[in-house]
Amino acid sequence: MNTVEVKGLVKAFDGHLRARRGRSEQVLALKGVDLAAEPGEYLVLLGPSGCGKTTLLRTIAGLEQPTEGEVLIGGNVVNGLPPRVRQIAMVFQSYALYPHKTVMDNIVFPLRAEGMEKQERDRKATWAADLLDIQPLLRRKPRQLSGGERQRVALARALVRDPAVFLLDEPLSNLDAKMRATARDELKRFQERVGTTTIYVTHDQAEAMGLGDRIAVLEQGRVRQIGTPREVYDDPADTFVATFIGSPPMNLVTRGDRLVGFRPEHLLPAENVPVEDRVTMPLHVDRMEYLSGDRHVYGSVTGIGEETRVIARLPATVATPLEPGETREFAVPSDRLRFFDAGSGARTDPVPIGDAP
Ligand code: ATP
Repeated sequence: MNTVEVKGLVKAFDGHLRARRGRSEQVLALKGVDLAAEPGEYLVLLGPSGCGKTTLLRTIAGLEQPTEGEVLIGGNVVNGLPPRVRQIAMVFQSYALYPHKTVMDNIVFPLRAEGMEKQERDRKATWAADLLDIQPLLRRKPRQLSGGERQRVALARALVRDPAVFLLDEPLSNLDAKMRATARDELKRFQERVGTTTIYVTHDQAEAMGLGDRIAVLEQGRVRQIGTPREVYDDPADTFVATFIGSPPMNLVTRGDRLVGFRPEHLLPAENVPVEDRVTMPLHVDRMEYLSGDRHVYGSVTGIGEETRVIARLPATVATPLEPGETREFAVPSDRLRFFDAGSGARTDPVPIGDAP
């Protein structure tokens, strides 16, 4: 097990399109990233398309050279070292299995390339196949496998090299929704068994929340927050994290120089929230959606700040009748309110509002 650290990582690419017009402009894919994965940790890099996740992973792997900053594996700076000596196994979105080789040959291929003896190769392949439950598939060709099975073969091929670190780049994105859930669960259990430090890239927050020991939320080449799934959900560092994580996202109401944030599931008809410690607000109902037993109420609130469109998520246990067009008293428990600076979006201390004591 090894730590993986990056310090002050900057990566600039040439912006080819602009360059053709005579101006060579750089794309800053990483703008000074610091983070560390602990030994055995499952760290997820989460962020919207283009935020720099893949660039960060490729730089750790040694497939890209940083413009500035350092990459450390097991405490040693690896800048300049080629990928193969970094003891890293990388599994990409496309598994890139050799189509004409059997599963067995695909798995042992990297070992053969290293000159390992056949007996030892077979022992390792059998061990990995057992671990990933693919023994019955060893004689098949990749086209005779399902997407999830191919993914396990790709993992087995990565695993036989005894990597110090696993780097996974959206490895589940080719699977259908149901397979993804199963594969996610398998991946998590597998990582727990082998205990290899893993960095996992995704733009899917459900995947990040389900898999990560911690999540690093990236935006435009910067880390916005690193924390456990619970921390980034309950205590977002800024409005970007607050609205990127959670579906529907956190509601934000402008109140002077602050934004008052609360999650849709904490905004309920007032009679469902204990009176002692709550903030009430009238909600005008526009429309409703029924999703997996929950009612999603779309409307607007006034009273605690500027009139703002919000979403409330009512569990099936809340039976309050609601009709589009009506206005009703809703409330949020005071300890569920989060406050942000309206200018910078950064988290601030709470300020007393409404009927909070
Ligand atoms: P996605 O989720 O869409 O895969 P990502 O978060 O992995 O996105 P990156 O692929 O790391 O994002 O790209 C980050 C930024 O760097 C983007 O603006 C992208 O256009 C740019 N970029 C990436 N590779 C290159 C390259 N080789 N040359 C120029 N620009 C690049």
